[in-house]
Amino acid sequence: MEKCFSQVPTPGYVIDENLLIKNLEILQYVMDKSGCKILLAQKAFSMFYLYPLISKYLIGTAASGLFEARLGHEEFDGETHIFSPAYQEKEFPVITKICDHIIFNSFSQWEKFSPAAMAAGKSCGMRINPEFSTQDGHAIYDPCAPYSRLGVTETEFKGNDAAGLDGLHLHTLCEQTQEPLLATLEVFEAKFGSYLKNMKWLNLGGGHHITRNDYDVEVLIETILRLRKTYDIEVYLEPGEAVVLNTGFLVTTVLETIHNGMDILILDTSAACHMPDVLEMPYRPEIIGAGLPGEKNYSYRLGGPTCLAGDIIGDYSFDTAVNPGDRLVFCDMAHYTMVKNNTFNGMALPSISVYSTDKEIKIIREFGFEDFKQRLS
Ligand SMILES: *Cc1c(COP(=O)(O)O)cnc(C)c1O
Repeated sequence: MEKCFSQVPTPGYVIDENLLIKNLEILQYVMDKSGCKILLAQKAFSMFYLYPLISKYLIGTAASGLFEARLGHEEFDGETHIFSPAYQEKEFPVITKICDHIIFNSFSQWEKFSPAAMAAGKSCGMRINPEFSTQDGHAIYDPCAPYSRLGVTETEFKGNDAAGLDGLHLHTLCEQTQEPLLATLEVFEAKFGSYLKNMKWLNLGGGHHITRNDYDVEVLIETILRLRKTYDIEVYLEPGEAVVLNTGFLVTTVLETIHNGMDILILDTSAACHMPDVLEMPYRPEIIGAGLPGEKNYSYRLGGPTCLAGDIIGDYSFDTAVNPGDRLVFCDMAHYTMVKNNTFNGMALPSISVYSTDKEIKIIREFGFEDFKQRLS
């Protein structure tokens, strides 16, 4: 594995198939024990080269709109589920053709589009909002925050004709373990449980960090078994992050060293372009062999090659001095990276490689000037 980091074009993502399989086996275990169905939320990870491998384990994909649905339909052998806050007339004929589950965000959307969806024999559901926040400080990732546009609240749900709906969908978690799920279900069931009795499925969305060390999968399994029994329904989960958690790396080459009150490294990768969650969340990604600033002998601030002053990845320390030409490897770079990449400042898109099950490095895709140019006019 270490060797392959010296072989890929930088900046470049490397996804380790062996680590991915470990995650998929955990998800498979949850499905086998609980009887639930798990989908890949493509919003987090859409590297379709790996869809044949992922589809050996997971039963389908979840899409946030037409294009993701098409990608799942074309590349992933399994069910295609879609949710969108608002569908468009012009895209709906294709959606009804390629999607198995179509999830609406309001009763007016349901009235507008369900006749076509039902005529095509599709299973329709409604996203609800239990109005129960389980995270503080991250309003941008909280669909239960005040005035959220995501999901129908209890007040708005009441009085509408839910007949014809096959299922309910809720997605309110973000990088969370089983405890916030249990707390959410208590509120959800009190508000919406009675509607489930006449339905076929419940989709618990994503944000479940199932593959993280401290996630208690046995509690999740018990909970799903209870839901299936109480309401006589199928249960779906659609994690994104959990599928590829800790399976990807971003390899970068150091371009320059600068001094301004502290030592600064300029890398060939950018936080703004290649790991935007570092700035949005914000968080500090791990680097193989590096420590907190001051912890090891040589401390540096790491920044990107763009002209955005805030394109800073963080402060790190190393055992030995870092020089131009050296490579650094960022960890956990599979989810919400490739899917969010942009070419701001004319930055090149990182190459995409895999470290395969036969322990070889395979360069899947490299990008160039045309990829930058073709989007701009
Ligand atoms: C983002 C999202 C997911 C996946 O969330 P993760 O945090 O990546 O697990 C699943 N379903 C819906 C509706 C989403 O918006």
